Amino acid sequence: MSLNFEFSDRLKQLPPYLFLEIDKAKRAALAQGRDIINLGVGDPDQTTPQVIIDAMKKALDNGANLHYPFDAGVPQLRVEIAKWFKKRFSVDLEPSSEIYPLIGSKEGLAHFPLAFINPGEKVLLTEPAYPAYQAAVAFAGGKIQYLPIKASNDFLPKISDIAESKNARMIIVCYPNNPTAAVANKEFYAELVKVCREKNIIIVSDLAYSEVYYDGVKPPSILEVEGAKEIAIEFHSFSKTYYMTGWRLGWACGSPLLVSGLAKVKSNVDSGVFNAIQHAGIAALNIDPAEVEDMRNCYQERRDALINGCRSIGWKIDFPKGAFYVWAKIPSKFSDSMTCVQAFLDQADIVMTPGVGFGKSGEGYVRMALTVPVERIHEAVGRMAKVLQ
Ligand SMILES: *Cc1c(COP(=O)(O)O)cnc(C)c1O
Repeated sequence: MSLNFEFSDRLKQLPPYLFLEIDKAKRAALAQGRDIINLGVGDPDQTTPQVIIDAMKKALDNGANLHYPFDAGVPQLRVEIAKWFKKRFSVDLEPSSEIYPLIGSKEGLAHFPLAFINPGEKVLLTEPAYPAYQAAVAFAGGKIQYLPIKASNDFLPKISDIAESKNARMIIVCYPNNPTAAVANKEFYAELVKVCREKNIIIVSDLAYSEVYYDGVKPPSILEVEGAKEIAIEFHSFSKTYYMTGWRLGWACGSPLLVSGLAKVKSNVDSGVFNAIQHAGIAALNIDPAEVEDMRNCYQERRDALINGCRSIGWKIDFPKGAFYVWAKIPSKFSDSMTCVQAFLDQADIVMTPGVGFGKSGEGYVRMALTVPVERIHEAVGRMAKVLQ
C-alpha cells in the first residue's frame, strides 16, 4: 500500500521560494571551496554582548526560570520595555496590557492575522516585502492586496491607494524597510493613522530595525502619533539591535485590544518565551548605549565602504537610511535581478539577493546585506569591478 499525504491548500498556496536557485548555486560554490563573500543573509556577523550572555547564565542557575513562563512571563521585562520605550519614543505603555513578549518578532507577526482576519478578508501589504507577512496572511485565509512601493515615492505606500482600497481590514508596514532600507517619518505615520482610522483598518508596524539607522536620524514609532494606540500594534525585536538573532526574543505593543488578541492566539500555540531569555532581554535593554552606538557605527562604515566603492567603479547606488541593507538598482548590462545575482556569483563569488524574490516591484534591484567586515567589502568591490568591465 502506498501512502499519499498531500500538503494542505494553505501550504500549497504559498508562492514558490524564489531564492532556491541562488541557494543551490551558493552551496555548490561553497562545496567547491570557492572564497564566497556572502552579502545575501540578513543575519549580523557579530556576537551578542557579553553582559547579555552573562545575564542568561545567571538566570539559568535559578530553578524558578526553568518552568513554564506562565502568562506573559517575567513582569520585569515588560516594565523595562516600557521604560525603554518612553526614553526612546516618549510614548507611555502600560506594561501589563500594552506589551507582550514574543519568541522573536517574526513569530508574533506570523500569528497576529489569526487573531483578526477571517477567511477571505483583505489585508494590504507593501511590496517588495519581508516574505513572512505574505505567509502570515495566507495562513489566516486572508486575501492580499499589494501596494507597490517605489523609489519615486521614497518607498512609501501612497496614502491615496489606501484611501481608495475597499474592505481592507489590516495593513502591514515596515520602516526602516527590509528590503529597500527606506525610513518613514512621523508625518507619514500621521497620515497613515488618519486614513486607517477613517476606514477602520488595523495597522501593523514592524519596527525590527528601529535602532539600525544612519547619520543620527532616528526612525520614529507609529505609536508617537496621537490616536495610533487605538488602531495600531507594533512589533519590536532584540535580534538586530543587540546581535541576538538566535535567541528568539521580541515584543508586540500598542492597542490593548490588538495585543490581547495576539496573546490569545499565542496561549493556544506556545507557552511563552523561556524566562532565562527574558532575563537576558532585561540586561539587553539596560546595556551601555555605547554598545548600540558601536553597532550603528559599524554598519555606517560598511555602508560607506560599499557605496563609495561601487560608485568608484561606475555603479551608482543610493545610501540607505535605515536597516543594514543596500537596495541597489542593477547595472544596465543586466536584464533582470536574477541574471545580475547569478553573474556576480559565477564570476566574482559574491552572493546577493535578487530583488524580485521580495515581490514583483523588486525587479530591477538587488539587496546586499552589510553583514561582512569592511576588508571583505573592499575585496567584493574589487571583484565587482571585473564583472562590470
Ligand atoms: C529580521 C527581521 C524581523 C525579525 O526578526 P526576529 O528575529 O523574529 O525578531 C522582522 N521583520 C523584518 C523585516 C526583519 O528583517
